[in-house]
Amino acid sequence: MYTLPDLPYDYAALEPAMTGQILELHHDKHHAAYVKGANDTLEQLAEARDKGELGGLVGLEKTLAFNLSGHVLHSIFWTNLSPDGGDRPDGDLGAAIDEHFGTFDAFKAQLTTATQGVQGSGWGVLAWEPLGKRLIITQVYDHHGNVGIGSVPILVFDAWEHAYYLQYKNVRPDYVGKLWSLVNWEDVAARFAAAKG
Ligand code: MN
Repeated sequence: MYTLPDLPYDYAALEPAMTGQILELHHDKHHAAYVKGANDTLEQLAEARDKGELGGLVGLEKTLAFNLSGHVLHSIFWTNLSPDGGDRPDGDLGAAIDEHFGTFDAFKAQLTTATQGVQGSGWGVLAWEPLGKRLIITQVYDHHGNVGIGSVPILVFDAWEHAYYLQYKNVRPDYVGKLWSLVNWEDVAARFAAAKG
């Protein structure tokens, strides 16, 4: 069974960049729905196996990928953010960003554009790609499309309208700009170290 993780801060902790109303709905309703969706789908898969009725397998696999990926991404998103976030990383992560993107500013411009430019619903993601041993930025569609398989997300920006619309309306770039002021680089650096190890 998957469970909804508690937020590591209060609903209002990320204001004014992100209102408490948005955070409460986003965590308690949207994220919770992905957790329930993943559990329900696994149950349906078990039932289908037990009965030997696998005719609906393709649909169930798609539903599992959507909901499980939504759960994973939101679980990372909450810990990627902090009321004390912002600035830029140093240490190994800062050096790796320079190595793979040129400069922090060039990296920031690419991830900003990737997040702002998602067509429909999706995410901008910084990931560790283990085969090439490098950082990459990907645009994830929905929660699971357009992904380089095996890549490990270490910093994720939610570009779904539910993440910002109540506060920023249609102006996604303003929301993405404010997200940078919330980034918990300690968490990103820990994820980077774990992914590399
Ligand atoms: Mn979301």
